Amino acid sequence: PPALYIVPTPIGNLGDMSPRAVEVLKSVTLVGCEDTRHSGRLFSHFGISTKTVSVHDHNERARAQWIIEKLAEGEAVALVSDAGTPLISDPGYHLVSLVREAGFNVVPLPGPCAAITALSASGLPSDRFSFEGFLPAKEKGRSDKLEALREDPRTLIFYESPHRIIQSLESIVAVLGADRPMVMARELSKTFETFLSGTAAEVLAKVLADDNQQKGEMVLMCHGFVAPEQDDEGVPAKAMETLALLAAELP
Ligand code: SAM
Repeated sequence: PPALYIVPTPIGNLGDMSPRAVEVLKSVTLVGCEDTRHSGRLFSHFGISTKTVSVHDHNERARAQWIIEKLAEGEAVALVSDAGTPLISDPGYHLVSLVREAGFNVVPLPGPCAAITALSASGLPSDRFSFEGFLPAKEKGRSDKLEALREDPRTLIFYESPHRIIQSLESIVAVLGADRPMVMARELSKTFETFLSGTAAEVLAKVLADDNQQKGEMVLMCHGFVAPEQDDEGVPAKAMETLALLAAELP
């Protein structure tokens, strides 16, 4: 039956390709790829010879119309990105919403995603979290975005690339605070997988001190905002302590 299959692919370890992902990619008539050459290497490794077509940020809407025509002809189509789950800081959103609007089924396969993989081993609260994608490239945009998240109680998850890791960590220290607990997960599922944790200032210092920590792919996770303790009348616990100390000194 016609459907658009959303197929996650490995984020660094080919062993994470699921048998179902291989089966679906072999059985559809067409695969939309973020980059056909990149996916070509993955496909040849798994013996997948299905026809591919590029679906990226610049042609997604036009391609969607064409894919909808294929679905209307009864064909099954799949979507992959370069790595991980399509649509998660990757192309696919416009395609999926247009295909749904056109009344066709969209079938998601569960699979690799750097954000969820990183969070699951971070030791940070995982009951509530907010995935924020990439921080803006410009300093002002980055600070504004972090400022808006400063008092968010949920664990914050950001994607980052090697050429901006230092600036982003500096902005996190400046806006969320030097003491904010955080974790940097790097090269997940690959040979040099590393987790760095500590306060934001400590993680920045470790990354500055070791060039290797600035390489590869990384996910930054920050503990959510914890409100300073307050008593029943809204007086901060710290203020009450100070008051008690002062009171003891008074005649
Ligand atoms: N769609 C992908 C997913 O599901 O995770 C994410 C694509 S996004 C363009 C690429 C970013 O994901 C990288 O800059 C990095 O922040 C993160 N990432 C991807 N693979 C990773 C890995 N093996 N280790 C750490 N972070 C990774």
